[in-house]
Amino acid sequence: MKYLVITHEHADHYGGANYIESVYHSKILMSEVAWNGIHDPNTTVLVDPFGNKSSDLALPKSYQKVDDKEVISLGETKLEILLTPGHTEGTISLIFNTTDNNTDRVVSIWGGTGLPNTLEGNKKYLQSLNYFERYTVENNVNALVSNHPFVNDLLNDMKKLRSRKPTEKNPLILTKEEFKINIDTTLRKSVIEKINNLQKPNN
Ligand SMILES: [Zn+2]
Repeated sequence: MKYLVITHEHADHYGGANYIESVYHSKILMSEVAWNGIHDPNTTVLVDPFGNKSSDLALPKSYQKVDDKEVISLGETKLEILLTPGHTEGTISLIFNTTDNNTDRVVSIWGGTGLPNTLEGNKKYLQSLNYFERYTVENNVNALVSNHPFVNDLLNDMKKLRSRKPTEKNPLILTKEEFKINIDTTLRKSVIEKINNLQKPNN
């Protein structure tokens, strides 16, 4: 395993990084803000399902900083990074090429789904989402995958993929129009609602 990409500074995403770094000598890819975030004792900790706090976790010892629109080449696969702060300050999103039944496809991963608590944070989230949508649509991205399999029906789609017949459609592949609708209904709607709620006078 050459690289481990960490989308953001929450313990459910970097909790195993130290282990993977020490066992597989993988390079840890993350944004500078996320790297600083996991080393900041005042950063919000996220309790993991096993009861550890992120401050209890062993941190990776080194990392390779990734920047906006940086491309990591892995043979024929290109992994492109977008800086998309919002879910956390250091969140990155990913775009990479692959094939599906010999057809070239481009897949995107939105780096952090849950909404932050502050108005400022949610405005930043929306700004990043607009940037991500514009960039992925311009670059003919065919799929939007969550970094949590329980989000956006991904577990179900994975099940469908396992039993898919060669003639059947890949449930993750979307037309340009479907891709935009997917972003609007799964992500944009909720952040706009939250911004409106936080802007109400009684807040
Ligand atoms: Zn998170």
